[in-house]
Amino acid sequence: MTQAQPNTPKMHWVVSMNYRTRSISWAVVFVAMALHLAAQAYSSWTMACMAAQFLVYPHVVYLAAKHSKDPLATEIKTMVLDALGFGVWVAVLEFPLWITFSLWICGVMGLSAFRGVRGALLASAAMVVGSLGVMAWSGLRFSPQTDVLVTLICMASLALYLFLFSLDANRRALVLRAIRHKLMKSETALQQQLHEVQSLQGLLTQQVNCDPLTGLYNRRYLTETMGRELARCMREGQPLSLLMIDIDHFKTVNDTYGHQAGDEVLKQLGAILVQEVRGSDLVCRYGGEEFLVLFPNMPLASAQARAEQYRQKVEAAVLGFGEFQISTRLSIGVAGFPGHATTPEGLIQAADRALYEAKRQGRNRVVMGTP
Ligand code: GH3
Ligand code: MG
Ligand code: MG
Repeated sequence: MTQAQPNTPKMHWVVSMNYRTRSISWAVVFVAMALHLAAQAYSSWTMACMAAQFLVYPHVVYLAAKHSKDPLATEIKTMVLDALGFGVWVAVLEFPLWITFSLWICGVMGLSAFRGVRGALLASAAMVVGSLGVMAWSGLRFSPQTDVLVTLICMASLALYLFLFSLDANRRALVLRAIRHKLMKSETALQQQLHEVQSLQGLLTQQVNCDPLTGLYNRRYLTETMGRELARCMREGQPLSLLMIDIDHFKTVNDTYGHQAGDEVLKQLGAILVQEVRGSDLVCRYGGEEFLVLFPNMPLASAQARAEQYRQKVEAAVLGFGEFQISTRLSIGVAGFPGHATTPEGLIQAADRALYEAKRQGRNRVVMGTP
């Protein structure tokens, strides 16, 4: 029995990735910024705000994204906010080149990973807006220099950010590879199932359309096909002929050699009938020991000749069943369009009447139908 899984929502990977990056690399960049600020005349209020931005804010936005209904959308907004904050702080610090560059790279990379070039432009624009806000307040002040220690820490924070970023890219690639592998496996299983369904469908079609003993088409398939073939021949001004074949004294075969021998005779006779037929001809087991052969596009005279060939071939054949050698004879009625009828039922009746006539005349013969 399978047990229901507790419904705990899975953390979106973007949320955990950004949390890691913000809480680690921002802390390092904060050290660089705090050192830089400490070397200038600064208010403790500015330092506190900077600490809040770089040390507390990452945890606040993480909680907000974690509980958001759309974590990705929330994260994108937060990344724009990050860039805006970066703009503010670089302006407050009077645009020290290394700090400005590091923060700009972080902002651009974060957003462009999800929004492409538009994301890069958005991050840059947000930073510019943040800086403009500060400059509107206190005017443009520009001191690009940082001391060696601050420069080194900036480099380290940038390296750390890039490293964390590529670690996450690697983790995502591995996850995607596993998903692709799983998909490929289920696709293979699906293909296999489809194949099984197709072969079952083929088997089913064969069972529906064919006689299980002889493998020939059955009467159901003939009824379905004959109307279509006759309509086509009528449309194209072509003839269509058919033979109604019945084994003479077949009951005697069963009575003499047994029912199984009778079955074997039916099978071997079916095999004789399908020899040398064209692809368009249709050989069908019409009833117990009756067969119907349909010849689309064949005139009556040719069909009569084919019937005579069948009769002679079967008369000459010795059908074997175990130690028995069984001889059989055929009576065949021939009919065709346009000579005898214009409907499938009419044609079958005409061939049946001709067959009856062949039986009446003494069997083992071919008789042409009458209109
Ligand atoms: P006729 O020359 O007048 O056609 O005589 P017949 O004995 O062939 O005709 P009848 O209709 O009296 O008998 C047909 C026999 O065919 C009776 C039946 O048991 C047998 N038969 C029908 N279907 C099968 C079958 O699937 N297997 C076997 N072994 N015999 C079958
Ligand atoms: Mg019969
Ligand atoms: Mg018979």
